[in-house]
Amino acid sequence: MIIAIDGPSGAGKSTLGKMLAKELGLLYLDTGAMYRAGALAAIRQNVSLDDARAVSRIVQGAEIALEGEPDALRVLLDGEDVSSEIRTLKVAQAASVVSTISDVRRRMVELQRSIGESSPNGCVLEGRDIGSVVFPNADVKFFLTAKPEARARRRYEEDKAKGHISTYEKTLAEINERDQRDVSRSDSPLTISDEAEVIDTSDLDLTEVFEQMMSKVREKKGAAA
Ligand code: C5P
Repeated sequence: MIIAIDGPSGAGKSTLGKMLAKELGLLYLDTGAMYRAGALAAIRQNVSLDDARAVSRIVQGAEIALEGEPDALRVLLDGEDVSSEIRTLKVAQAASVVSTISDVRRRMVELQRSIGESSPNGCVLEGRDIGSVVFPNADVKFFLTAKPEARARRRYEEDKAKGHISTYEKTLAEINERDQRDVSRSDSPLTISDEAEVIDTSDLDLTEVFEQMMSKVREKKGAAA
């Protein structure tokens, strides 16, 4: 079973994706982490992020892998654990820029498909283009969204808990900037697939969203049986 979860930053995709993967015994794939790892590779090589050729050459040559259980997912770049390093604001912004490059997207999509297809029970993938590009035939598609203020509040609280110093206003501005780039890029912009179940998580708690998602999955499983 392939479950696609798309949506803007801070809508709860990672938390809910992990919960679903654990409940259903599926692999969990955080595709944003892969773009972040690619961006980190480019930063480390000191190339300008606007140099699409140089960036895609570096990303093509980088070995990006995800390992471990959903709650303790490790992101490896050329064998090195970069799980914490990719969570900085600098890398988030770089990932947002690097992910507009078509060659970079092509390489990531290939990798994501091969990981998803080789997982014996199936996979929960979360990102921006899963239901539209990576797995357009996914069994279940979700689009999670929330008001920008709710998303910025959550992201700010998460960052604070991780010890990153910022302000709510800065977080809101940063989220809006990244979302704007995601919806306006020419290659695979963030869109709502026709078959996607759209859930606005602004005023719902985690359990409510999880239950809603699980009932959709059960419905699909029932229909397939
Ligand atoms: O989800 P996360 O915020 O970690 O993703 C980092 C960046 O990678 C996003 O801002 C987005 O621009 C990009 N991304 C993408 N396609 C995906 C996943 C992430 O373009 N499937």
